[in-house]
Amino acid sequence: MNETLRALPRVDDILEYVDEDLPRAILLDCIREVLDNCRNAIIAGAAAPTKETIAEMSIALAKSKSTPVLRPVINATGIVLHTNLGRAPLAESVAEHVKQVALGYSTLEYDLQTGKRGSRTIGIENLLTTLTKSEAACIVNNNAAAVLLTLSALCTGREVVVSRSELVEIGGSFRVPEVISQGGAILHEVGATNKTHISDYRNAIQDSTAAILKVHTSNYKIMGFTHEVSTKELADLSREIGVLSIYDLGSGSFVSFAGEPTVQQAVADGMDIICFSGDKLLGGPQCGIILGGKEHIAKIRTHPLYRALRADKLTLAALEATLGLYRDIDNAKSQIPALSMLLAQPAMLKEKAALLLEQLDKKLDARLQKTDGQAGGGSLPLQEFESWAVAIPQSSQLSVEELEKHLRNWKTPIITRIHKNTLLLDVRTIEERQFEEIVECVAAYNRAASY
Ligand SMILES: *Cc1c(COP(=O)(O)O)cnc(C)c1O
Repeated sequence: MNETLRALPRVDDILEYVDEDLPRAILLDCIREVLDNCRNAIIAGAAAPTKETIAEMSIALAKSKSTPVLRPVINATGIVLHTNLGRAPLAESVAEHVKQVALGYSTLEYDLQTGKRGSRTIGIENLLTTLTKSEAACIVNNNAAAVLLTLSALCTGREVVVSRSELVEIGGSFRVPEVISQGGAILHEVGATNKTHISDYRNAIQDSTAAILKVHTSNYKIMGFTHEVSTKELADLSREIGVLSIYDLGSGSFVSFAGEPTVQQAVADGMDIICFSGDKLLGGPQCGIILGGKEHIAKIRTHPLYRALRADKLTLAALEATLGLYRDIDNAKSQIPALSMLLAQPAMLKEKAALLLEQLDKKLDARLQKTDGQAGGGSLPLQEFESWAVAIPQSSQLSVEELEKHLRNWKTPIITRIHKNTLLLDVRTIEERQFEEIVECVAAYNRAASY
């Protein structure tokens, strides 16, 4: 064993075998790591690998270490706002604008007219107030932050009345009761799981009440014997009694999808404060948007938490450019990927799937299959989005599990799903320019499997 250990090559010996274009410092670290592993393996009784093998292992390790863990993938799941895959993709023109801002200096807090310090969100506020008819607006990192900040700035030490049907948990650790207590407010539950009436709210309001909070149950639906109080009724009641009405709208759509409340409607109904995400149905960057009257927004913006939760310049650049597209709604629908994907009609998707099928290797026995996709991101939970997929069935020659893994490990990972022993490539979320890479990846699998 000692002899085998002594015979192991040195780092310099291995370097000679490597003519890849990799950063030298990373390569040296990786060779050392591989040699260490070899030493341990030899001590455990393994044979010594050849220099070539050690070089190959070192290159593979260096390559994997030089590849960012966060990188682009092809989403073939058909789920548009896929939480694990980064929710909403940005529009092309938005990404271009972000790039320009990222690469240089910008007017982040500079007013070109006066040559003095300016506001970092004035452009966004103007767009939001124009688009939604709200009086004022403010931006933070995500909607969870928006709700927490709102409660902290406007409700600390006082009661917040919420329906028992709306004590929602959103993915991660966002739970309405916990956010309320984190914001320093006291939860006052009213109604029952399935029914809450306006009288329940009215009876709960007392001197210590700061607000009525309505939470959009964006990721589930209660059906059957149910009743919920509309935003209009809640806004009217809160105005009559003199408490705030706050709406955690979650998905924050500017366009009406079957039954989904829009931001504009919530403003028109008279809710005092409305919070929603930038990267759900709006189709912009991850951020939280707070709309409300000037006085309330000023209180929120001067709260110390605002400084801790405010969004960075790249997010602001992406949000302003995305909102800009909404000035022409048809423009927004065609250019914002989340919107155009969600609005794509089944007939169009079938044609798109046929186009992909045509390019794929005929040996696969692939065919077209109708799917019922979901919006994802905890939005529109019941709405089925009929879509079309290229379906590759399990066969004696082909393991769909192996194919799924091969696609997932491709240079641009291709994320698919398996349903009833069939691998599905749902075209709702695949861009046509990505077909070529999918075809290439599947062909490489076929060559390797060589059936
Ligand atoms: C998604 C959602 C949140 C959390 O929003 P993030 O932007 O993910 O922080 C909060 N409330 C509701 C109702 C939601 O749907």
